[in-house]
Amino acid sequence: MRKKIVAGNWKMNLDYAEGISLFSEIVNMVRDEKKGDQLAVICAPYIHLNSLSQLGAQVVSIGAQNCHQNESGAFTGEISAKMVKSTGCDYVIIGHSERRQYFAESDALLAEKTRIALLHGLTPIFCIGETLDERNNGDYFTVIKDQLTNGVFGLESSEFAKIVIAYEPVWAIGTGLTATSEQAQEVHAFIRKEIAAKYNEEIADDTTILYGGSCNPKNADELFAQADIDGGLIGGASLKSRDFVDIVKAFN
Ligand code: 13P
Repeated sequence: MRKKIVAGNWKMNLDYAEGISLFSEIVNMVRDEKKGDQLAVICAPYIHLNSLSQLGAQVVSIGAQNCHQNESGAFTGEISAKMVKSTGCDYVIIGHSERRQYFAESDALLAEKTRIALLHGLTPIFCIGETLDERNNGDYFTVIKDQLTNGVFGLESSEFAKIVIAYEPVWAIGTGLTATSEQAQEVHAFIRKEIAAKYNEEIADDTTILYGGSCNPKNADELFAQADIDGGLIGGASLKSRDFVDIVKAFN
């Protein structure tokens, strides 16, 4: 059975005190209100990771939003997968569209980051998704297939089986423009089919595929009801405890 996950991505928001305060609220609410076997994860800025792990990683898992592709060394300002793991994190987002767009992260680089994250026992949440132009041109299946092929299909099956995929159409991120549940389901089914073709049906069946892009408490129910949508990667709505926990509860 594949895992159901609702992961918040705080992006570059919340100073230290604000992060502690929001996470404490989320942990208390998830502890009191969550039903079912879905996992809640918060992917926070690096400064928060260790404190959040100590505050409540048994209730809400912790993830980082990036890591460097090298083991260690002279890379001023960067953070390694080993360092992330040592804070008590279990997850790391790799290849978010904002990293691809603003930091020119290529599929080849993201393949290296995925490998090193796995090597250090982190679960990569590997993001893929098309731009508005690519959607309008009808190119989105090709774009997604290329991102999978060049980003993660180089992994051995035993390694691929450990990762989570997040489908985040770039045109839906932070825009309030959510993919319809039909649009999202169509792509999720395509991703699962590609995984089955590359690996096998069993691995495809067990891979958690999250949807991200303007997911909120109003649309989460319908999105999560789709056969191939196993949860969400939540940006803006993860900055409000009530909204985030309501999305976690959308599985109930
Ligand atoms: P929004 O939920 O704010 O659209 O962001 C989605 C996202 O980028 C999560 O990684």
